[in-house]
Amino acid sequence: MNNCFLAKLKKAFLTIIFIAMVIPGFSQEPPEYDKITTSAGIVELHFIGHGSLMFKVNGFVIYIDPVRSSGNYNFLPKADLILVTHEHGDHLDVKLIDDLKKPGTLLFCNQNSVSKIPWAMAMKADDRQEIDNIIITAVPAYNIVNESTPGHPFHPKGVGLGYILAIGGKRIYVAGDTENTPEMKSLRNIDVAFLPMNLPYTMTPAMVADAALAFKPKILYPYHFGETDTNEIIKLLKDSGIEVRIRSLK
Ligand code: ZN
Ligand code: ZN
Repeated sequence: MNNCFLAKLKKAFLTIIFIAMVIPGFSQEPPEYDKITTSAGIVELHFIGHGSLMFKVNGFVIYIDPVRSSGNYNFLPKADLILVTHEHGDHLDVKLIDDLKKPGTLLFCNQNSVSKIPWAMAMKADDRQEIDNIIITAVPAYNIVNESTPGHPFHPKGVGLGYILAIGGKRIYVAGDTENTPEMKSLRNIDVAFLPMNLPYTMTPAMVADAALAFKPKILYPYHFGETDTNEIIKLLKDSGIEVRIRSLK
């Protein structure tokens, strides 16, 4: 091999590395995550994308609305617990749930999702479950003003859910697809809240701000925000004492 050939080989190799870095399909980056300290240990909050989240505490893995098209699951472990807020395609992915399932995986969901996952257990608003010292409370999730056609809200009351997870003294609220309902606004002692912020299905930044100012989570993650300008919610909650964190949850 002469030097010229080696140089070409090196160039080709570097080109492949470069392509792998810039083309999304080649990207093997795991989802970004934050850490929350609780008396039960550190809870990792992994932001998979859109409405899909994964929480991990002491090796116990919780998925909320895992959906393949929302992000990269290549690096992620099997589930101990799965929560599904409702049956829409960006929240319920039966095939991925099958892939994340292992012996002993538990799944709680709203009533409409049970028919699609026979081994799941349905919850309804205000139901409570305790798994491994994690207390899960279901909160109603529904539209008040946003409708697909007159009289038909995208998310009718009584169907979808959000969940509050109480872990080691901290309360994490994942709202599901909902607006700023009276039930949401009357919540108290929420440390971390994930509130959806896209039209026409969920809330405008003003509606998210209205809810957040009512129940005052310490940390707010807008999620499920699509093309919504996240700067708006930052402006609306400036000086509110609520820490707004924008992560890759488009
Ligand atoms: Zn929905
Ligand atoms: Zn949705």
